[in-house]
Amino acid sequence: MDTAELTEEQRLMRQTCRDFVDDVVLPFIRDEWQREWVMEPEARVPKEILEKADEVGIRTLGVPEEYCGIGLDPNSEVKTFAIIGEEIARGDAGLADKIIQNWKVAMLLRNLAPKHLQEKWFARLLEDPQFLLAHCLTEPRGASDRWLPYNVPEASMHTRAVRHRDGWMINGRKQFVSNGYDAGLFVVYANSNPEVGMLQGTSSFLVPRDTPGLTIARCNETMGCRFMNNGELVFEDMFLPEDHLLAEGNALGQAGVYFQPGKVMQAAKNLGIGVRAFEVTADYVQNYVQGGAILIKHQAVALRLGDMATRLEAVRALLDRASRAVDAGSPDADVLCNMVKLFASEEVAKVAQHALELHGGNGVMLDFGVEKLYRDAAIFLHMDATTDISRFKIVKSMFPHTAGTYAGSA
Ligand SMILES: Cc1cc2nc3c(=O)[nH]c(=O)nc-3n(C[C@H](O)[C@H](O)[C@H](O)COP(=O)(O)OP(=O)(O)OC[C@H]3O[C@@H](n4cnc5c(N)ncnc54)[C@H](O)[C@@H]3O)c2cc1C
Repeated sequence: MDTAELTEEQRLMRQTCRDFVDDVVLPFIRDEWQREWVMEPEARVPKEILEKADEVGIRTLGVPEEYCGIGLDPNSEVKTFAIIGEEIARGDAGLADKIIQNWKVAMLLRNLAPKHLQEKWFARLLEDPQFLLAHCLTEPRGASDRWLPYNVPEASMHTRAVRHRDGWMINGRKQFVSNGYDAGLFVVYANSNPEVGMLQGTSSFLVPRDTPGLTIARCNETMGCRFMNNGELVFEDMFLPEDHLLAEGNALGQAGVYFQPGKVMQAAKNLGIGVRAFEVTADYVQNYVQGGAILIKHQAVALRLGDMATRLEAVRALLDRASRAVDAGSPDADVLCNMVKLFASEEVAKVAQHALELHGGNGVMLDFGVEKLYRDAAIFLHMDATTDISRFKIVKSMFPHTAGTYAGSA
C-alpha cells in the first residue's frame, strides 16, 4: 500500500507491528519451527509472544475507549485492522488468527452485549495477555447452509436454545472454531425457534468458559495456521442467565458487524502470507545459482515472480476498496467483502505455490519454512465460507430473486 495514503496513526501502528514481527515473530518461526508440531496445543505458542503483542498494543484492538481500549478512528477502523492484520500474518498466520479473533469478537460485544458484561469481559481481556475470544457458528452438519443462508427451517442449526426459568438452556455442539480450544469467552449461536428460517430463528449468547454444561471436546490438528488452536465444543443442559443473550431471533443479521470486518481481516491475513512468500522467494531467486546464473536471470523464474507480485497488488487493491466500503457503511460493502475474501484465497494460494516451486526441493523441507506458507494459504480457501459458497453468495446478493431462492424447494 502506498504509504502516502495512510494516516499518521496507521503508519505508526504498522511500523510498530512490523518491528514486532521482524524482531519477535519471524525469529521464533525460523528458530523453533518444530513448535508447530508439538501435540500439546497449549504449549505451541510461548506465552511471551502474546505478552509482546500486548506490549506493542495490537492484542486488544476493537475494545472501546470507554473500557480502556485503544480508540481507533471509526472512519478508518476496518482499514487499520486490515493493515495490522496483514503485518501480523506476514510473521505467522496462526498467530494472526489468534489475535484477530479477539478484535472481531470485541466488535460484536461492543454492539450487542449489555454494559455490565462488556465492562467485565473487556477488563478480563485487557488484564490477561493470554485471554482469547471465540465465535461459534459451525456445526458437524456443515456450515455452508448457514453462510448462504438458506432461510428454511430444515437448514437451521441443530444446537438448540430453549427458554428455561429466567434464562436459556442450550444443547448441541460446535466444530472448527478458531480459538475454540483455549478461549475464555465464546459467542455461541443456537436455534431458538425451529418453526421459522434461521434468519428469524437464531439467537446468540455469551458463554464463559467455566459455564457448567460446556465441554471443550477436542483441539483439531489443522494442516496450517497451527499456532491458532481450532476446537470443538459440546453443550449439555448448559444454562445461561437472561443477560447472556446477545440477540434473540435475528442473531445472524446482527452478526453483520462481525462478518463484514471479519472477511476483510481474512483477506488481510491471507495477503500477509502472500507478502511473506514473495519476500522469501525474491531473496532466494537473487541469491541461489543454477545454470550458471542466479535464478532470477532465467526468464521462466522472472515471469513467475512477476505473476506473484501482480496477484498480490490486485488483492491489495480490492482489499483497500472493501475495507473502505465497510468503514463508510456503503451498500456494496457486503458483496465486496465476499469478493475480497474469495479472491485473496485463490490468488495467495497461487502465490504460495509459485514460492514452493521456485524453492525446488528446499521448498518442501519443513526446516526451510517455505512449505508452511503453502499450508497456511490452503486454510484460507475454507475459512469463513468455501470458495464455491462465497461465489454463490456474491451472485445471490446480485440476483436475490433467482439465485437467492432455496435450491431444495420447488
Ligand atoms: C481453520 C478454520 C477456522 C475456522 N474458524 C471458525 C470459527 O471461528 N467459527 C466457526 O463457526 N466456524 C469456523 N470455521 C468453519 C468454516 O466456516 C467452515 O469450515 C466453512 O464454512 C465450510 O463449512 P464446512 O466445513 O461445514 O463444509 P460443508 O458446508 O460441509 O461443505 C462441504 C463442501 O460442500 C460444498 N457445498 C455445501 N453446500 C453447498 C451448496 N449448497 N452448493 C454448492 N456446494 C455446496 C462446499 O463448498 C464444500 O466444498 C473454521 C474453519 C477452518 C478450516
